[in-house]
Amino acid sequence: MTTSLPWQNLQQRLLEINDLQSAAALLHWDQATYMPPGGAAARGRQLATLQRLAHDRLTDPALGDLLERTWDWPQGSDEAALVRLARRHYQRARRLPNAFIGELVSHQAHTYAAWAQARAEDDFALVQPYLEKTLRLSRDLASFFPEAEHPLDALIEEEDPGYSCRDLKALFSELRQHLVPLLAEITATPPPDDACLTQYFPAAEQLAFSRRLVARLGYDLERGRQDQTLHPFMTKFSLGDVRITTRVREDNLGEALFSSIHEMGHALYEQGIAPHLEGTPLAEGTSSGMHESQSRFWENLIGRSLPFWEWCYPQLQAVFPTQLGSVSLEEFYRAVNKVRRSLIRTDADEVSYNLHVMIRFNLELALVEGSLEVKDLPAAWNHYYQTDLGLTPPTDREGILQDVHWYGGQIGGMFQGYTLGNLISAQLYEALQADQPDLGSRVRRGEFAPISTWLRTHVHQHGAKYTPQELLQRATGSPLRVEPFVNYLRRKYEEIYS
Ligand code: ZN
Repeated sequence: MTTSLPWQNLQQRLLEINDLQSAAALLHWDQATYMPPGGAAARGRQLATLQRLAHDRLTDPALGDLLERTWDWPQGSDEAALVRLARRHYQRARRLPNAFIGELVSHQAHTYAAWAQARAEDDFALVQPYLEKTLRLSRDLASFFPEAEHPLDALIEEEDPGYSCRDLKALFSELRQHLVPLLAEITATPPPDDACLTQYFPAAEQLAFSRRLVARLGYDLERGRQDQTLHPFMTKFSLGDVRITTRVREDNLGEALFSSIHEMGHALYEQGIAPHLEGTPLAEGTSSGMHESQSRFWENLIGRSLPFWEWCYPQLQAVFPTQLGSVSLEEFYRAVNKVRRSLIRTDADEVSYNLHVMIRFNLELALVEGSLEVKDLPAAWNHYYQTDLGLTPPTDREGILQDVHWYGGQIGGMFQGYTLGNLISAQLYEALQADQPDLGSRVRRGEFAPISTWLRTHVHQHGAKYTPQELLQRATGSPLRVEPFVNYLRRKYEEIYS
């Protein structure tokens, strides 16, 4: 990179914004792991201060002047991509008035607290007025982007740039046509017995095992660490410090195991970004969907595959001989791939998972369009669950209050990334398998480096240099398709369920 003064100035300004955001991320990580309850009030304020400072810097007209200069970086260079992305961040941030940001940040903290209480007391009414304000703020947010074809587009664009509400409706309806009959076929046959997963498994052993496992799969513990939390997540403070959190349940072996592999998939993406992008807007995943594709790739395509368990199961049995000693590999494999109609998205199997996402997407759509009011949301939720999954939640805790997303301060643009991620993960797997026909036998031998190297080469190293559409096209040779995911499910579950 050149050392021209304006370029250095631009880089310095972007670095400072990045530092403020990283400091906020560290405070948030601490809040979700080790902070004593007494720290909550001040922590909310401290986070708001850092967010405001970062927003002030990002919307500084002096930064705008630098970004609007004519830069002569060649097309395709990192520098040209950096300018394009920083302009995008600047222009989006400039649309949002400071007063609006302040109101949003303070509302986020209050809504989250109200949700936690409503969930504990299983009473949606406690959070309803907050959610009504959230909807108002989300519509206001969308209104700052009046050029969007649909108000939801502005909200989706922030998380999954390049996908419109119209695209997603078409994609989801195509996917749905495959999933509904597949789920019906599978659930018409007797389900596998998964009782082996719900015995007593001491937390310390589970944590030690998942830590060894993620290190073996490629997570660099010299540049990361794993801690416990209530709602697992991955966070990054620099490319040298990418952390994951997990949740352990002593009565359910799957929880820590699969959430660790999932968050590790997110972490490998961030750890794999090219070091020279550090501190720039390019040093992050390119979209929610692409990020989720990495976590789901490892959690499901690898972590719930038969070759993986052929390698891993004897080691797990050695740690839990009393619980698993007499459970065969075949039984265990079927247990971790049990398909059933269920109420909770995060517990859902690969086949029904996207139906949970579509319910939320449709509700967001109706709320933002104004055809559904917040007070009618629990009834609408229950109606969709009955229609699509054949179940009605007995409590709001198992229904409308289960996911944190809407209670974090925004309705709209929050869920599509999960389904995009599932589709992308299968499309990447198909491309990887074409490049490495012996993939299955490598996994069976516990050789994961060729996989992470492939992902780093085709996805991770680029960070946010390419749009998700460009990146997928480059990695797989085609735009997003539904077939790889549907074919993967059909092949896998026809074998398990005969
Ligand atoms: Zn995830």
